[in-house]
Parts: sequence; structure tokens; C-alpha cells
Amino acid sequence: MKTVITQSPKETFQLGMELGKQAEAGQVYCLSGDLGVGKTVFTQGFAKGMGIEEHVNSPTFTILQSYEEGRLPLYHFDAYRIGDAEEMEEIGYEDCFYGTGVSLVEWPEQIKDIIPETGIWIRIEKDLEQGFDYRKITINK
Ligand code: ADP
Ligand code: MG
Repeated sequence: MKTVITQSPKETFQLGMELGKQAEAGQVYCLSGDLGVGKTVFTQGFAKGMGIEEHVNSPTFTILQSYEEGRLPLYHFDAYRIGDAEEMEEIGYEDCFYGTGVSLVEWPEQIKDIIPETGIWIRIEKDLEQGFDYRKITINK
């Protein structure tokens, strides 16, 4: 386990970028944290680290957004509106989780049952007592 404190969106982006550079095929990154905490900022850095230049945003209304132009394919999921694992099956999540790309899931708690045991959990938390831009990021790798 590793804990990183960031004090700006830029620092969170850079942490994402570092991890994106190291990401390997078949890994599933589970990014948890409340709305507005910085999951998308982190993901944007992560994508950059994977060599993706295309703009990455919250896939909220699509559940899955794939990016094919990087070092490896990146599958960006937003499970916020997922009701059950069946919806994930319809999307074909298994080809992503167990394929040759890297998956990154926002709101992974929604689909806990289908997250592989090898999933890498990353939690982003605010602590307003530490300031508005403070984020504690815990990586369970
Ligand atoms: P989420 O995807 O978790 O809902 P976003 O990444 O869309 O959140 O938004 C995070 C917001 O918090 C952005 O407006 C960003 O500028 C702001 N922010 C402030 N400090 C930080 C920080 N240390 N890390 C990430 N984002 C931060
Ligand atoms: Mg988001």
C-alpha cells in the first residue's frame, strides 16, 4: 500500500501519469472516491501516461469509453449507473478485464462482484480541514 498526498489537480494528474506509464496489459484499476474528488483528473493523467493524446472525460453517459491510440488499449468505465453485473456483461466487460488492454473503473463498488482479485484499488479522499485542494490517494497494489 502506498499513500500520496496531492495539493492540486496538476499533482493528481501527474500521479495518474506515472501509473499510466507503468500500466500493464490485463490490469484492472479501480478508482474510488466521491463525486468531484478527482477521479477524472487522475484518469486524464493516466491516459496521458499510456500515450493517449485524445481528450478523456467522464464516460458517465456511455459507461465504457475505449481509447485505442496509446501504448495499450485503455478501457475507461464509469459504473455509477450500473444496476447489476448483467449490464456489464452486455457491454462485454470480460474482453476488457481479461484482454490485452488496461481497464480503469470509476465507481468500482457498484460492480464489486466482478472485479478480479488482482484489481488494483486506488482511493481518492478529500479532507477539508487540510484545505480545499488537498487529496489523499491510497494505492493498494
Ligand atoms: P470526479 O471524476 O471524481 O467526479 P473530477 O476529476 O471531475 O472529479 O473533478 C475534480 C475537481 O477537483 C476538479 O475541479 C479539480 O480542479 C478539483 N481539484 C482540486 N484539488 C485537486 C486535487 N488535489 N486533485 C484533483 N482534483 C482537484
Ligand atoms: Mg469523473
